[in-house]
Amino acid sequence: MKVMVSPELRAPVLQATALHELGHAFGLWGHSDHAGDVMAVSQGALPVLTVSKRDRLTLEWIRSQSTNFGQPH
Ligand SMILES: [Zn+2]
Repeated sequence: MKVMVSPELRAPVLQATALHELGHAFGLWGHSDHAGDVMAVSQGALPVLTVSKRDRLTLEWIRSQSTNFGQPH
Protein backbone atom coordinates (compact mmCIF):
# COMPACT_ATOMS: atom_id res chain seq x y z
CA MET A 1 0.00 0.00 0.00
CA LYS A 2 1.23 3.48 -0.80
CA VAL A 3 -0.31 6.62 0.72
CA MET A 4 0.48 9.70 -1.30
CA VAL A 5 -0.02 13.18 0.12
CA SER A 6 1.23 16.55 -1.03
CA PRO A 7 4.60 17.39 0.56
CA GLU A 8 3.64 21.07 0.50
CA LEU A 9 1.08 20.70 3.30
CA ARG A 10 2.06 22.01 6.73
CA ALA A 11 3.03 19.24 9.16
CA PRO A 12 -0.24 18.83 11.16
CA VAL A 13 -2.32 18.86 7.97
CA LEU A 14 0.07 16.38 6.35
CA GLN A 15 -0.24 14.08 9.38
CA ALA A 16 -4.04 14.37 9.49
CA THR A 17 -4.28 13.68 5.74
CA ALA A 18 -2.02 10.62 6.05
CA LEU A 19 -4.12 9.33 8.97
CA HIS A 20 -7.32 9.85 6.95
CA GLU A 21 -5.90 8.01 3.93
CA LEU A 22 -4.72 5.16 6.18
CA GLY A 23 -8.31 4.90 7.42
CA HIS A 24 -9.39 4.29 3.81
CA ALA A 25 -6.61 1.73 3.40
CA PHE A 26 -7.83 -0.15 6.49
CA GLY A 27 -11.34 -0.40 5.05
CA LEU A 28 -13.06 2.83 6.06
CA TRP A 29 -14.08 3.64 2.51
CA GLY A 30 -16.76 6.16 3.42
CA HIS A 31 -16.60 9.52 5.16
CA SER A 32 -17.98 10.81 8.42
CA ASP A 33 -20.27 13.82 8.80
CA HIS A 34 -18.56 14.65 12.12
CA ALA A 35 -15.67 17.13 11.93
CA GLY A 36 -13.89 15.52 14.91
CA ASP A 37 -13.48 12.19 13.14
CA VAL A 38 -10.37 11.21 11.22
CA MET A 39 -12.71 10.09 8.45
CA ALA A 40 -14.50 13.47 8.18
CA VAL A 41 -14.96 14.40 4.53
CA SER A 42 -12.97 17.60 4.96
CA GLN A 43 -10.67 18.98 7.61
CA GLY A 44 -11.78 21.80 9.85
CA ALA A 45 -9.57 24.57 11.24
CA LEU A 46 -7.84 22.08 13.54
CA PRO A 47 -6.50 18.95 11.84
CA VAL A 48 -7.70 15.71 13.49
CA LEU A 49 -4.59 13.89 14.67
CA THR A 50 -6.16 11.19 16.83
CA VAL A 51 -8.64 8.46 16.01
CA SER A 52 -12.07 9.25 17.49
CA LYS A 53 -14.19 6.71 19.35
CA ARG A 54 -16.58 6.74 16.37
CA ASP A 55 -13.71 6.03 13.92
CA ARG A 56 -12.51 3.18 16.15
CA LEU A 57 -15.98 1.64 16.54
CA THR A 58 -16.61 1.86 12.79
CA LEU A 59 -13.30 0.15 12.05
CA GLU A 60 -14.02 -2.58 14.62
CA TRP A 61 -17.46 -3.14 13.06
CA ILE A 62 -16.03 -3.39 9.54
CA ARG A 63 -13.33 -5.79 10.67
CA SER A 64 -15.95 -8.01 12.37
CA GLN A 65 -17.91 -8.51 9.12
CA SER A 66 -17.56 -11.86 7.39
CA THR A 67 -15.79 -11.89 4.06
CA ASN A 68 -14.81 -14.38 1.39
CA PHE A 69 -11.49 -12.60 0.92
CA GLY A 70 -8.68 -15.11 0.59
CA GLN A 71 -11.04 -18.08 0.20
CA PRO A 72 -10.84 -20.38 -2.85
CA HIS A 73 -13.47 -19.80 -5.52
ZN1 LIG B 1 -11.36 10.34 2.26
